Formats: sequence, structure tokens, C-alpha cells
Amino acid sequence: MITAWLILSLTAAVPQDFDAVFTGATLRFDYFHSGTAEEEHISLDTFRLEGPWPGSRSRLLDDTNLGKYLFQLIDLETHRVLYSRGFASIYGEWETTAEARSRWRTFHESQRFPETQRRSQVVLKKRSSDGSFREIYSGIFDPESRSIDRSPVLRQGRMGTVFENGPPDRKVDLLVLGDGYSAEEQDTLEADVRRLMKALFETEPFARRRQAFNVRWIGVPSQESGVTDPRSGTWKRTPLGLSYNAFDSERYVLTYANRQLREIAAQAPYDALILLANSRKYGGGGIFNLWTTAAARSSQAEYLVVHEFGHSFAGLADEYYTSQVSYEDFNPPGVEPWEPNITALLDPENLKWRDLGEDGTPLPTPWNQDDYDEISLAYQERRQALRDAGASEETMEKLFEEVKAATQPLLEKEPYFGKVGAFEGAGYRAKGLYRSSVDCIMFTRNPRDFCPVCANAIEKVIRRYAE
Ligand SMILES: [Zn+2]
Repeated sequence: MITAWLILSLTAAVPQDFDAVFTGATLRFDYFHSGTAEEEHISLDTFRLEGPWPGSRSRLLDDTNLGKYLFQLIDLETHRVLYSRGFASIYGEWETTAEARSRWRTFHESQRFPETQRRSQVVLKKRSSDGSFREIYSGIFDPESRSIDRSPVLRQGRMGTVFENGPPDRKVDLLVLGDGYSAEEQDTLEADVRRLMKALFETEPFARRRQAFNVRWIGVPSQESGVTDPRSGTWKRTPLGLSYNAFDSERYVLTYANRQLREIAAQAPYDALILLANSRKYGGGGIFNLWTTAAARSSQAEYLVVHEFGHSFAGLADEYYTSQVSYEDFNPPGVEPWEPNITALLDPENLKWRDLGEDGTPLPTPWNQDDYDEISLAYQERRQALRDAGASEETMEKLFEEVKAATQPLLEKEPYFGKVGAFEGAGYRAKGLYRSSVDCIMFTRNPRDFCPVCANAIEKVIRRYAE
């Protein structure tokens, strides 16, 4: 009896044999995400075969509990979850804007998973305000189906490697795509990629974890130079479709050309994407497990890439709250955000980053918010006035430097500067939401590195791909 029990428990402890369940290829589930602020619907577009599976073969389940949504692949016979991944989406942000209260919209999305040998269930879940997930879509993936697109991925553009440290299934594969670079500007793109990746891997915790990454890039030449910027009347047809003014927010850069982008990206193994816009004008964006965008030719491009990659790679929230955003109901009061670096502090005893805090640091942690807000809000007003007057990028950049010179010393002289606590003001809310450090890359442009809580969250995600 004891022997039999021992064998059983050993069997249960052995990780599933990847090759027995999966084919080794990557399948992409393409779908449309439609709705309003009140309701949402998912409909199948297609299943698309990509190249070899670039993700981990041993850590297939996402245990980070991050993301507004959750994708699951479930074995139909055993009901076992074979693969899962939390994520956020453009739809998930859009539904919190004013527009979503008056009209329907549709966004194209993709989830990638290792192709199974047997029929399996494809499930999408959405997080409720209590943190639990409820199912919003369920479908069947049948590897025998004739409707899976198995056509070869089209070779387009130029591909290069920044550095490689090992096979894709044991490393975080970071893929950088250029947009709005003409055929003559492909060398400029390569130089931009190398400069910005140097900046990312000089920032902690990425610097000490460089060995866990592979970094590659692809440039598909754009017919014209530059990307779309509706507020200045600039419209361009570019391979990735990057555009400023997403959700009518001038500096928010997104693309809605998901299928196009995925077909370009599928040429290389990737776990994370960074999209570089050939543009001088400050702007970018980052959505968890989707991608980062950044204006590569802005004087703040290094900061943009690092900050936005914090969003897209580790699900970090914005810690700032004085800038204008289009979201109206992004972090509703009284709800604990899922992001690892902000909290509603509903239960200070069980603060989610308590293992990183020090005994004796009060919760909430006092800081001189009034003085900071006075400077920061005055700056926001000037920034807005300059934008409205159509000020040049040079003028805007001077203002960046000015606000840095004013806020950095103010924050650095805070008694709890450098300590982990719970500082009120975070996630677009001055009250009721808290961040873990006085300052961080997710709060201002001042610091060189991520705060300890953000760094820890990044480490956790790295381990999911590279161990
Ligand atoms: Zn932080």
C-alpha cells in the first residue's frame, strides 16, 4: 500500500511531459472583442499556426494572478488547465472611457498558446471587482480542423539580433518592431533599437537579469517616414499602424492593426513586444502582456521604453495621478487593483508587498503630498497650455527638465524616501490609492531604477519565462 501511494504521489509531482501533450508549435487564437461600458462579447476570427513555441515548456501555468483578463487552455478529456496567461487589453481600457458609455466598438485581439495534440477548450475570463474571474468566452480548439490557417508566415522586412543568451524556451524573448521607418531609414531603426535596449538593460532589475533575455528586432520598411498623428493632421499608412491620440489622448500611442502586427511578429520567437515609432514627439503606451509603444526619436525615448515596458511586461500600474488621462473609471474606489504596485489599502495588515516593507514604517506612510501636488498640478497646467498653443518639442522638453529639477529634491528629502510603505496618490487617483515608494519610474521621470516593489514584480515575470 505504501509503495503504491508513493508511486502515485511521485507521478503527481512530475511536471507534465510537454511533448506528450503539445506539438511544439505556436497557435494563435484571433478574435474580436466588442461591446460598450455595459456589455462585452467575444467572437472567433481564426486560429493561426505560427512558428515553434517560444515560451517555457515547464512553466505553462500563470501563477502571478495579474491582468484584467485571463486566457486558459483546458484539456477536454481531463479538464486539466494546460496553459494559462493573465493579460490586459485595449478593450479593457477603452471600456472605462466616456466613449464606451455612448457607443459600441470592436478591437481585434490575439492569445498565443502551445498547440495541443488533442481537442481542447479555449476560455477567456474577466476579473470581477472582488478579484475573482468569470468566464466571458468558451470555444473549442480542434487540431484536426480544416479551418486552422496553416499557411507559412510571410517573410517581410529585415531581422536582426541585439543579443542572444540561449534557446527561446529558457529565455525571455523580447522582440522589437520598428514602425514608420522607410527603406532608407532601416539603419536608423537598428541604431534606435540598440540605443533603447542599452538603456533598458542598464536599468535595474533588467541590468542584473540580462542573461535571462534574448533581444531581436524586425524592421518592415514603411512607404513614408513617420507615424500617424491625427491632432497635427498627419496620416500615414505604416506596417504596424501606430498612431498618437489613442482614446483622444494626445500622447497615447497605440495601434488597432493587431492581425497585421502579429503576422510581422510571427517571423521571430517572442514572449514580449516593443513597438518603436519613428517619431520625435513624446508619446507611448504599455498594456500588460500586449506590447509597449514608444516614440523612439523623442529626447525622453529611453525613459518611455523603460516605463511603458514596466506596464506591458510586469503589469505595473501608473503610480502617478496628476496627469490628465481619458479613463473615467479605471480604478473604481474601494476596489483593490490587480496591479502589483498600487493598493487601495483596504486591509493594511495584509498589504500585498508587506514582505518587502520594514517594521516601523507607518501605513499609510506620511509624505508631503500637498507641496508635491502644488508643483505638479501647476506643471500640468503649463504643459496643457503649451500643448494647446502648439509649442515645439524643444519647449516641452525644457519644461520636463524644469519639473524634474523642482520635484526631485522635494521627493528625495521625504523622511521615508527609499523606504517601502504605502504613500497616498497613485493610479490616477490623489486619494484612496497608494504606491509603495515615494518615487519610482512608474511615478516620475526622476529615478534611475524601478522601486523595490516594481523590481520584485518584474523579477517574478522573468522567472515565469526563464528558469
Ligand atoms: Zn514602483
